[in-house]
Amino acid sequence: MKIKFYGAASEVGRSCIFIESKEAKLLLDCGIKMAEPHEYPLIPDEVLASIDAIIISHAHLDHCGYLAHALSIGYAGPIYSTKPTYELVNILVNDYIKISNPENITKQGIAKLPKQFVLKEYHESFKIKDVEAKLLPAGHVLGSSMIEINANGKKLLYTGDANFRTTKLLDAGYSENLNENILITESTYGGDEDMFPSEKITLADMAASISNTIKNNAKVIIPSFGVGRAQEVVLILDDYMRSGLIPAVPIYMDGMVNKAMRIHRHNVIYCRDELQKRILMNDDDPFKSKNFVHVLSIKERKKVIQDKSPCIIVTTSGMLSGGPVLKYLEQLGHNETNKIIFVGYQAEGTRGRELLDGKRTILIGKKRVNITMKIEKYHLSAHADRQQLLHFISKINNLKYVFIVHGEKFKSEQLKNSISKKLNVIVPSILDEFSV
Ligand SMILES: [Zn+2]
Ligand SMILES: [Zn+2]
Repeated sequence: MKIKFYGAASEVGRSCIFIESKEAKLLLDCGIKMAEPHEYPLIPDEVLASIDAIIISHAHLDHCGYLAHALSIGYAGPIYSTKPTYELVNILVNDYIKISNPENITKQGIAKLPKQFVLKEYHESFKIKDVEAKLLPAGHVLGSSMIEINANGKKLLYTGDANFRTTKLLDAGYSENLNENILITESTYGGDEDMFPSEKITLADMAASISNTIKNNAKVIIPSFGVGRAQEVVLILDDYMRSGLIPAVPIYMDGMVNKAMRIHRHNVIYCRDELQKRILMNDDDPFKSKNFVHVLSIKERKKVIQDKSPCIIVTTSGMLSGGPVLKYLEQLGHNETNKIIFVGYQAEGTRGRELLDGKRTILIGKKRVNITMKIEKYHLSAHADRQQLLHFISKINNLKYVFIVHGEKFKSEQLKNSISKKLNVIVPSILDEFSV
């Protein structure tokens, strides 16, 4: 089996892994890097057009944002994913194209996007020439998968983005009885420092902080991926409001968060049993709380901004790389009683990362915006932390090679150092190629 890394090697973003068996050429993920400006995987168009199949792990743009390009330059094969991933990809990719207007995208290419998907259930085997493939639950976001490839007597597992802890929405990533010779693992939080307090403690701290801001009559902004942990946070905040732990104020949702909530609701069979039961057994639909207010127009957004009363605003994009969150920051960012709370990973080169690193002006379009609001971060990531990654890797039988990707280089190296005694471990660089 040949493996080549066209992206996400010693970086987070533009996941795009080429796999070649005796008969088949596959691509695991086809994403872009959300830095400013966006970066694309280094796969030549003629290689991309000649692939037999693309398998998408999940709907985040760093794993699927290059699909419209692939279709525009003539890729005509199937795109395999789960049903929620298919629905979310179509929404998120179209939204990304509308906002960013990337080069080399044709109308015909975009039109092909929904048509070329082939939907698979978790654990269902499917054939691509001499390759047998399978999607396994990854616990990261709705519909997210790890991808198992079985070809020419070798088994390979690609984690995509994975979380091995149960969350409010999702079961933990699958990790039972895995037999794999080759692992390609993410390492977003694989660094030595990436040990975090229990989520219970983190959530309690965050609730107290939000409560304070609300009591000060101010606004809390939570930047969110269209699909990510922030949506779970919304459900958790609603629970807290119902139990009186934090004062009941409107939780405004703006942008992609709204559509994504609907997709979660009708794909609830891909969520945890507990959530399904809550909907099926009584009328208490957690996705339709009266605390949730959907912001559906620019006029409504203006009203939210101008209204003097306290509230929580959950809006895209999660790393401040675009979307309505920038409109809110422009208007609300210079009020020091307001607060922005980050709950997701902030990649290098994004405005979100700049704020966390201490910068207090950000560039929005051509405008410099001073940010004097309070800035806080709570670790509620949808990614496995170091301990979980190590535990997961130790549970896999017959493992020989581990490729560590989707992490800042020093973190990938630190993860490598903790497992390299027993295994052949490689932190690839972009365009590196291996035969295994
Ligand atoms: Zn992801
Ligand atoms: Zn990712």
